[in-house]
Amino acid sequence: MTEGEARKRQIHYPPVPNGIDYLRDVIDRLARESGEPSERDLKYAVLHLQAAAEVLLKARLREEHWSLVISKAEKTNLKKFEKGEFESATNAETVRRLVEVVGLDISAGDKKTLLDLATTRNQLQHWGITEEANAVLTRAADVLDFLIRFLDQYLLPHLDADDEEAVADDLEEIRTGLVRIESYVTSRMERLNENDLKGHEARTVRCPDCQQVALIVDGAANKCSFCPRDWMDPLELASAYDNAFSYSPAPGDPYEDTLVDCPDCDTLTLALEAETVASNGSHIPLCFNCAETQDNLGECARCGRLYRPTDEEPICFDCFADLG
Ligand SMILES: [Zn+2]
Ligand SMILES: [Zn+2]
Ligand SMILES: [Zn+2]
Repeated sequence: MTEGEARKRQIHYPPVPNGIDYLRDVIDRLARESGEPSERDLKYAVLHLQAAAEVLLKARLREEHWSLVISKAEKTNLKKFEKGEFESATNAETVRRLVEVVGLDISAGDKKTLLDLATTRNQLQHWGITEEANAVLTRAADVLDFLIRFLDQYLLPHLDADDEEAVADDLEEIRTGLVRIESYVTSRMERLNENDLKGHEARTVRCPDCQQVALIVDGAANKCSFCPRDWMDPLELASAYDNAFSYSPAPGDPYEDTLVDCPDCDTLTLALEAETVASNGSHIPLCFNCAETQDNLGECARCGRLYRPTDEEPICFDCFADLG
């Protein structure tokens, strides 16, 4: 091995076992064989999951070239990098470089999962745990699922035999732990579908917090049975729902509001692209304040706002009155 190769090996691989070690800790805290994770477990699970994601994603950047890890490459050199004297790229920028510079395929859904995790981590550092345990669990499962795929596809094939052996046990624990979390989620959802959610299919939507289809919009408690948490403020729920699940246009495409004023209650709570259990995969307008799906809405030919036509008239009542 030349000196260059030796150095390359040295700076390439330690991050991977390090990231896997963080993941092992996350699994030990969240996928307990008995007993619920404590508040402290939830806290360190989120912190360590974020640390793992950062270390593992940057390990792949580093493999491409060490300067990609650094926020501003023009301000550094290899010596400083090796001493750890550098400011590293942000999470969003790391993901962007993986996709746009390295050319990896990271889906929009996976990107969002990663950036949401970073947000949760930041909230946690400032405010402590504000999420319900089940919401942390389902989000952690999504991130773990992504990181395992990322490891399998982009990092593990490049490990040398020693490192591979060193991480083998941890990897197995992580994989079985993830299955344990996922089966907990599935069996809990099956129970809810047979009980709490039964008969509410037309008003049951995906919860912005735990991502499970377990939130019954009733205009009062708006309770997610999975988390479990309430959304007493329909405005807050509508905007959280819209942020979490509405179509976001590709860069350069015109932005269209998917959250608008409801013509019935005059509140900014009408999500145009809602999905309920009953809507069966298609998008329908749902007002989180009226707690009703709003089909039969027309778009006013004069002012462009949504309105409820009573007799096939092409313009809304306000425009009608305005025209005298
Ligand atoms: Zn929920
Ligand atoms: Zn309404
Ligand atoms: Zn009008």
